[in-house]
Amino acid sequence: MSTLLDKCRADAEAHARSEYPREAVGLVVAVRGKPRYIPCRNQSEEPDHFVLHPEDYAAAEDLGDIVAIVHSHPDCGPEPSLHDLASHAASRMTWWIVGLKDGAATWQEMQAAGELPLEGRVFVHGAIDCYTLVRDYYRQELGIILPDFHRKDDWWHNGDNLYVDNFAKTGFVPVDTPEQGDLIVMAIGSPTPCHGAIWLEGDVLLHHLYGRLSCKEVYGRAYRECTTHIMRYRG
Ligand SMILES: [Zn+2]
Repeated sequence: MSTLLDKCRADAEAHARSEYPREAVGLVVAVRGKPRYIPCRNQSEEPDHFVLHPEDYAAAEDLGDIVAIVHSHPDCGPEPSLHDLASHAASRMTWWIVGLKDGAATWQEMQAAGELPLEGRVFVHGAIDCYTLVRDYYRQELGIILPDFHRKDDWWHNGDNLYVDNFAKTGFVPVDTPEQGDLIVMAIGSPTPCHGAIWLEGDVLLHHLYGRLSCKEVYGRAYRECTTHIMRYRG
């Protein structure tokens, strides 16, 4: 007997085939307890990536509870890429991947992972990076949900200004002296303010530098000298 989840898989597979050779992305939403596949737009400009359109996510959330994030692997098996593994862990949601290879569809399901610890994370750009840590700190410690932004690796050298451009949108205002939970923005190895850290009592930063593990360390002179903004969340 086929179940409603089988129907979701069939709908997701049909969507994946219609988007081929691009990656398709969609959501499984429980609408009054019944799972339904909702096709979404993939905003990614890179061929082997997906970025779920935030409007589609918001619309799906209005329909019901999001059960799973689904994406396709054209001409590949359903095994998660390294980026998939990191994004899956950071999303704390169930993922389904459908591989389309030689005309056949194969599935892999990844159960929702628990919270990532704030310290000791491995850096994966765009999935587990300095802004992921900022978002997770705000959600876990302060109950504040900051929006996510798609970011290409090396955006700070390519004309993007993720932190500065999004301050107003995310409800941050500049201040002179940091307090617990303020966002310290720094230009490290680039003229663009590209690195965000959380300031904690005792003059300590909680942050995640490129290529390092996330950690707490003293907000020393080197970090002060490259600080461009101290920002406080006002909502
Ligand atoms: Zn993938």
